[in-house]
Amino acid sequence: MVLEVSISNRGAILLGNSVACDAFEETRPLRVVTHAHADHLVGLKRSLNKCNKVLMTDATKELIEVLKGPRIFNSGIIEKIEYGKSVVYDDERITLLKANHILGAAQVLVENSKGDRVAYTGDFKLEGTPPIKDCDTLVVEATYGSPSFRRSFDLDIRELLVSMIEKRLRKGKVYVFGYYGKLQEIMQILRCAHVYVPFVMPERILQVSEVCKRHGMNLGDLTLSSDEHGKELLDKNLPCVAFYHMNKRKSIGISSSRICVSGWEFRFPSKQIGHNDHLIALSDHSDFDELVEYIRLSNPKKVITDNHRVKHGSILAKEIIKRLGIPAEAMPKKECRYQQKLF
Ligand SMILES: [Zn+2]
Repeated sequence: MVLEVSISNRGAILLGNSVACDAFEETRPLRVVTHAHADHLVGLKRSLNKCNKVLMTDATKELIEVLKGPRIFNSGIIEKIEYGKSVVYDDERITLLKANHILGAAQVLVENSKGDRVAYTGDFKLEGTPPIKDCDTLVVEATYGSPSFRRSFDLDIRELLVSMIEKRLRKGKVYVFGYYGKLQEIMQILRCAHVYVPFVMPERILQVSEVCKRHGMNLGDLTLSSDEHGKELLDKNLPCVAFYHMNKRKSIGISSSRICVSGWEFRFPSKQIGHNDHLIALSDHSDFDELVEYIRLSNPKKVITDNHRVKHGSILAKEIIKRLGIPAEAMPKKECRYQQKLF
């Protein structure tokens, strides 16, 4: 039987007969969680209760335990899979492959005994993500699926980020706002650039960071914002970097030096968004050109774009047909119910 591929109205990426990725689907015995971002955990509790197995990397499991609470996996059977390793179910072999997005992120490849191959990229940025080649059908994320989402900066955003933070540290503390995964990437960029000031953060971000450290990221010593040392650093405006979730931007560090890190900026590598408040365009997703380049390198027979999580799937499908001559369509067909900004 040929390996069918589609995307359900709930956003489940259905690969072959057995696998549903990133949302619950009652007809599929296996659920794959590609990474720990909330829009890829849709219906996870139902999958844990109803599916034969839920597959993910070890790091993704640990991140979900921090973000959803340790009881999340009290029910269900989890199978942790390393990159490059497979699980076999009936006639289908399911393999997780590295995606450069957040810690633990994976692409998913499903093959059968006839040699049919179908795959899903999950969220990714091209650099550091090996393309899955020569699939019958490839499902690709479409966060920046429109030609208007191109980053054409010549300079290295990481170097810019380090120099902006170092300059501000001369006057005391610097607040950095971002999403889980991105914040830890910034910590590692700073440590690799020999920025050794204390990193201060609330408990949830510290827990996520500890998972990242256990899996090999270089984040150095971390300080809780609620303990004595953390409070002193912040109260006395001593040189330190304070990391907070993007949703705290309106309530934390209002009159201090602040840097907000977001992928949703394409014209400038950085821009001032308030007094002492700057945005830096560091993304953990491919821009439009990188999405097209991944597909060119991958060389699938057909492409399906994810039109559930963002609304650019239809545009990306048209551009793939036009630029690469590969048949492509967006799924699900209907307008998505919401558009969530992904950073
Ligand atoms: Zn994501």
